[in-house]
Amino acid sequence: MSKTKTSLFLICLFTLAISVLAWGVLKGELEQNISGSDFQNQRREMVEKQIKKRGIKDRLILDTFLRVPRHRFVPDEIKSLAYSDRALPIGEEQTISQPYIVAFMTKALNLSPQDKILEIGTGSGYQAAILGELCDSVFTIEIIASLGNRAKLLLEELGYDNIIVKIGDGYQGWEEYAPFDAIIVTCAPTQVPTILKDQLKEGGRMIIPVGSSYRQDLVLLRKANHQLVEEKVLPVIFVPMVDTTGKKY
Ligand code: SAH
Repeated sequence: MSKTKTSLFLICLFTLAISVLAWGVLKGELEQNISGSDFQNQRREMVEKQIKKRGIKDRLILDTFLRVPRHRFVPDEIKSLAYSDRALPIGEEQTISQPYIVAFMTKALNLSPQDKILEIGTGSGYQAAILGELCDSVFTIEIIASLGNRAKLLLEELGYDNIIVKIGDGYQGWEEYAPFDAIIVTCAPTQVPTILKDQLKEGGRMIIPVGSSYRQDLVLLRKANHQLVEEKVLPVIFVPMVDTTGKKY
């Protein structure tokens, strides 16, 4: 009799343990789904209100912004702000650009799927991911090693095998892979670096913020008949482009 009681007790205990375990797993999954779909909703809203409403209607670009998980590119403490209408700090006194500015620069480059792109200023890697979705290959340079390495790991984790991150001074461009169909610069020099102009293909486009530390203009350059045509397209504020000693270019 006591043996039966013990067995019964053990069976009950076992069942209870299994139930608790199953509930834990379910709850975890539930929470993950809730936050996952929450970010998806926030992403949808970001695309509608911040990008589409301001005039960027290109379906390929909008779909890309719907896919790329921007919250993975910002520090954990501010994940809840990832889809807000602003630039955000990413450490080392640097920032991930406002979603609209990322979209604006992407659109200005008039990209094709077979394009090879150079980016100066990897930062979080978000802009590189957007470009990686739309183009054949992205070569991106970051001067701050900790940021560049973090972006490299994240981009690998997210499966972007067409993005190559280098730690170094992007002022020199990337001769080994030049010329490029498009160049995007996400830190601001006071003038367009001549080396970057030279590394642009015939028919290529470059978008770059040019100006002082506090105010710049986004300049769009197009290379046609071996000549560059420049056009100021939007006033902006980016972090300055610096050399390895921290001096502004
Ligand atoms: N495109 C980034 C935004 C980067 S902010 C994103 O999507 O998150 C600009 C970045 O340019 C900073 O990380 C800064 O360290 C970097 N930077 C500044 N001067 C540089 C240089 N000479 N070469 C390469 N990167 C530079």
